[in-house]
Amino acid sequence: MRHGIGLLGGTFDPVHNGHLAIARSFLSHTLIEQLWVILSPDPPHKTDLPRAPFERRLEMLEAAFGEFNGVKISTIEQNLSRPSYTIQTVRHLKKKYPEQPFYLCIGEDSLREFHTWYRYRDLLKECELLVARRPGSSSEDVDQEIMDRAHFVDHQPVEVSSTEIRNRIAEQQPVDSMIPDEVLEIIEQYDLYR
Ligand code: ATP
Repeated sequence: MRHGIGLLGGTFDPVHNGHLAIARSFLSHTLIEQLWVILSPDPPHKTDLPRAPFERRLEMLEAAFGEFNGVKISTIEQNLSRPSYTIQTVRHLKKKYPEQPFYLCIGEDSLREFHTWYRYRDLLKECELLVARRPGSSSEDVDQEIMDRAHFVDHQPVEVSSTEIRNRIAEQQPVDSMIPDEVLEIIEQYDLYR
């Protein structure tokens, strides 16, 4: 029976078609009934700071996922202490919803880096991982203890990243095939990533 909630955290700076594609694939998995998309104020594993403020990234997320059945946008990390470690967020949610099974939904690049996440072994005890393949990433060298807790979802990989979009906008290259129109409108309205 489907009753699990998938947690998809990210900076979403900006949200793009790759995020929408993985959201669809995670929701297609038999374990998942809902996907909570959690906007991170300041992800501890990223060396550079977000380029667009939290409120703008939230506005773009809401525009992108507006009509998406089964998806809920969450700003919960804004109310938790910093840095926004995933283990803190997951423990908070499990305490609040003790009956609810949670699954951590990540892209393959995050799986590769998972061993660098704060208290990742404790995190693996808290929840299993659902992973979507990502072009340019391979899980070949990922430790067995991590792979043992990871399930790959059916997913047609989409080659796009927020970094590429920010770089293209800065170079005045088109990005309309990489993000939803609603997101492009917000980027233009606030002149983001220039
Ligand atoms: P950046 O280029 O700024 O690092 P990003 O494109 O990786 O950003 P994030 O907001 O960091 O986007 O990603 C949130 C989650 O979505 C992560 O788990 C990441 O692995 C996953 N993800 C993002 N883009 C893709 C993609 N094209 N395919 C698979 N997973 C993805």
